[in-house]
Amino acid sequence: ILPTIYVVTATYKRPEQRAELTRLCNTLARVPAIHWLVVEDADSPSSLVADTIGNCGVLSYTHLYVATPEDEKLKSTEPYWWRPKGVRQRNLAFEWLRNDPSRTGVMYIADDDNTYDVRLFDEIRATRRVSVWPVAFAGGLLYEGIRCAHGRVLGWIVAFKPHRQFPLDMAGFAINLQLLHERPAAKLAYKVERGFQESLLLTSLGVRQSDLEARANDCSRILVWHTRTAPPKLNNVALLAERGLTLPPVIG
Ligand code: UDP
Ligand code: MN
Repeated sequence: ILPTIYVVTATYKRPEQRAELTRLCNTLARVPAIHWLVVEDADSPSSLVADTIGNCGVLSYTHLYVATPEDEKLKSTEPYWWRPKGVRQRNLAFEWLRNDPSRTGVMYIADDDNTYDVRLFDEIRATRRVSVWPVAFAGGLLYEGIRCAHGRVLGWIVAFKPHRQFPLDMAGFAINLQLLHERPAAKLAYKVERGFQESLLLTSLGVRQSDLEARANDCSRILVWHTRTAPPKLNNVALLAERGLTLPPVIG
């Protein structure tokens, strides 16, 4: 019997939301023994998210929601990287996972806009404590490198803040639920220096570098890409109105 992978996805309302969730769902639908935890950044669950995740082929999922506090939301004047994202949403997923002390399996945080090779989930599933692998397009490089041998991590090949204890992207590790149960206080926070969220989570879970299990053929394969979707151009909305036309309502 396969251990369950709990895939945690924070998601928020924007024109491309349904496209992102559809693409991710198309990937996850090919993976056996997963439970998809979708946490909407919203005061109430939307039918758009419910419809999308409920009809795309992932049979086991839970739709949660919690809004980001107003003062932690990205201001229009701030660069996109200014604030941590998905903090409350991921923390709610951690709480949900811990809610049943007998729950076993592996947790992976999968953002809605990244790109996942389905073979990544085979690597994730075999996580005893914490497993790691390189993530493409992170840290200002083609990929942030990990020096791995015989399934162990020897060092890091990174440029952005190399003094980080675990210079990893959220997409670059998975955690056995046992750790979440053992360290019930471990969670994400808003007041964390940029780039340190992953390190802080892993250190608060009591993880040391020697605990890490190297995956993806000793960190020599890219199985996940930190892709970012360009916002769609909606610059002709006024032009359409000038022509006296309105778009009929559609689903999506
Ligand atoms: N997210 C969210 N609320 C926000 C911004 C982002 O729930 O206000 C989600 C988003 O859908 C994604 C994750 O948090 O799953 C990380 O956000 P994003 O991909 O924008 O971060 P980046 O790739 O820039 O680190
Ligand atoms: Mn992203």
